Amino acid sequence: MDKNELIVVGGAGGFIAGSLVRYFHDKGFTRIRAVDKKPLTEWYQRTPGVESLSLDLSEPENCRRVAEGAAEVYNLAADMGGMGFIERHRVDCLRSVLINTHLIEAAWRAGAQRYFFSSSACAYNTDLQKDPRVRALKESDAYPAMAERGYGWEKLISEMFCQEYTAERGLPTFIARFHNVYGPHGTWDGGREKAPAAICRKVIEAKDSGSGAITIWGDGTQTRSFMFIDDCTRGIDRIMHCEKLVATPINLGSSELVSINELVTLAETIGGVKLKRSYDPTQPKGVAGRNSDNTMIHGILGWEPDTSLKNGLEKTYHWIEQQYRDRKAGKATVV
Ligand code: NAD
Repeated sequence: MDKNELIVVGGAGGFIAGSLVRYFHDKGFTRIRAVDKKPLTEWYQRTPGVESLSLDLSEPENCRRVAEGAAEVYNLAADMGGMGFIERHRVDCLRSVLINTHLIEAAWRAGAQRYFFSSSACAYNTDLQKDPRVRALKESDAYPAMAERGYGWEKLISEMFCQEYTAERGLPTFIARFHNVYGPHGTWDGGREKAPAAICRKVIEAKDSGSGAITIWGDGTQTRSFMFIDDCTRGIDRIMHCEKLVATPINLGSSELVSINELVTLAETIGGVKLKRSYDPTQPKGVAGRNSDNTMIHGILGWEPDTSLKNGLEKTYHWIEQQYRDRKAGKATVV
């Protein structure tokens, strides 16, 4: 793609899209339009030289405005968070369907060449995720459908929109099902944070307060895989520019499966502490187990996310530790 063509990124005040904007900027793209409904002062990161707009993309006229002249549109805008958020805010999650509905229509009308949608592993049938010793989820496991209530169903229907815009209207669409993403510049406190950030923060808090204790949601045996942010941005670029993947949902996730207990041990090792663990079974814990089957991405792209959890978590932990210190010192932070 010509580096002077316009790229539009929705959700750019958030974690992944903010990093995607930086990624394209660093690759030399000169015209990037970043959009998020949050005020600019609340964006997790801002890339200098990028057009940044604070607009609500669930409004059709805003979508028309941002899609004007776009060669590529990336939709990463959604009302979302970790299990604590998506189990308690199903209506908000479902309403994200408005964003994709209006943005894809605007992209098509504007004559965009490609459209990207950020789907999720929450689109997969939950009946297949009842055992912590999971069989990794492959792309065909979304149907017959029994997605995560609220959030997962919104992802499935928005995937369907993408597939039908390709089939009926000829807009090339690309759909990645992200498995848990973590890394610097993501939220780490306040209720929307996901397990890796929450656990790093709890270890840092325990060290700071001297409590020597940590509370873990569920019984700690739940298993997940976690993808480092740099693998995610690289993967989005590769998927969006692969002709074999038009209108074809594909996993974008790590296949390194760990239990939440193992994740805590890793964070403790990085922090140089050993904490007394207690478990809170009343808190949302999501499915028992979930992993990404990477046969398809490996077969098509000859690549899969490969940053080890140890390396990625170390970078994330140190970034959150700095944020924690900055917040205590009254400086501006992500949360
Ligand atoms: P995030 O919450 O950090 O970013 C999402 C951004 O979308 C936020 O800044 C929010 O303000 C913005 N937004 C919400 N409603 C909007 C609207 N109406 N108009 C404009 N902007 C709006 O989340 P993230 O982790 O960066 O996730 C990005 C995408 O990836 C989402 O679609 C999410 O569902 C998907 N995803 C993320 C993960 C993960 O582990 N982080 C996993 C699976 C899928």
